[in-house]
Amino acid sequence: MSTPILEVEDLHVHFENYAGTIHAVNGMSFSIQPGEIYGLVGESGCGKSVTALAALRMVKPPGYIAGGRIRYRGDDLLELSEERMHAVRGGGIAMVFQDPFASLNPVFTVGDQTNRIIRRHLGLSQKEARAKAVDAFDKVGLPDPETVYDSYPFHLSGGMQQRVMIAMGLSSGADLLIADEPTTALDVTIQAQILKLLTDLRKRENLAILLITHDLGVVAETCDRVGVAYAGHIVETGTVEQCLYTRGHPYTDGLLGALPDLVEHGADLEVIDGSVPDGLETIPGCPFHPRCPHVMDVCRGDPPPFYRLGEGRTTHAVACYLYGEHPVIPPRAPGPTDRPGPPRSTEPEEAT
Ligand code: SF4
Repeated sequence: MSTPILEVEDLHVHFENYAGTIHAVNGMSFSIQPGEIYGLVGESGCGKSVTALAALRMVKPPGYIAGGRIRYRGDDLLELSEERMHAVRGGGIAMVFQDPFASLNPVFTVGDQTNRIIRRHLGLSQKEARAKAVDAFDKVGLPDPETVYDSYPFHLSGGMQQRVMIAMGLSSGADLLIADEPTTALDVTIQAQILKLLTDLRKRENLAILLITHDLGVVAETCDRVGVAYAGHIVETGTVEQCLYTRGHPYTDGLLGALPDLVEHGADLEVIDGSVPDGLETIPGCPFHPRCPHVMDVCRGDPPPFYRLGEGRTTHAVACYLYGEHPVIPPRAPGPTDRPGPPRSTEPEEAT
């Protein structure tokens, strides 16, 4: 396996509010290889979007990164100067959000906006940047890219706006795309087109993609590997086949059981009892134990380590005491272990 393009190690992100400290991300660790699509999946509030923002140091106060490491091509992003971080945002790592219209400036044409990003990151002339933007619009399948260049965001459909956002990232040389629920706001047919575009770009451009989604169907169609997130922890990781088609963590099992497509016609959907914790309360032991149908005494003690399932080339690991004797990864230390103190300023100078 080659060197990962992105490594997230024991990431902790907190938010301070009147009620106390919300532990939004509680020690997430994962890595992405060049040209790989990695899905981070879970319910709302599991910390997946906050993890994506943290990867670009875009967590805004009262949130802050309380611990961990984020390495992009070997550089620790939490140690980079704001100037170098500015070059990484959009230049190396691009991000697209659920609502592309909210990410685009309504008073400039999409061509102007793309041109400006290209000139800033690649130092090209206005004319050269225009040619590169038109080429990027063509690569993402926008019809008549010259006309699109001179269009305002409101001239374009939601699917076309999302293609423009992806083109902006590609045109300035990004090799990692963070896509946070990129199809959730789109019609089903357009969703399928955008997912196909992402898989095509991975093949054609060797683009690595961190795909944040709550939709297991999107993961199944698109991703190579997946991390299932719960209450700010990753509880299961492996290939899509390992995580979605073999029985693993009880939480993943519950998510799959709640999918209408996968239950027999007429059968009741399964429900995961209880609700996602709010992050204010520290849950001892396994974070899923208050909702788990298999809970045992040991689950209320120390957090479970990751246990390896099977002997596949890609590690399939599950943080659950139901499995095995020999953990692949030692148990997590409770709470952040470094970067204590006041919140860091993480506000970017300019969104890309
Ligand atoms: Fe359930 Fe225990 Fe496994 Fe947690 S460790 S998922 S509570 S069986």
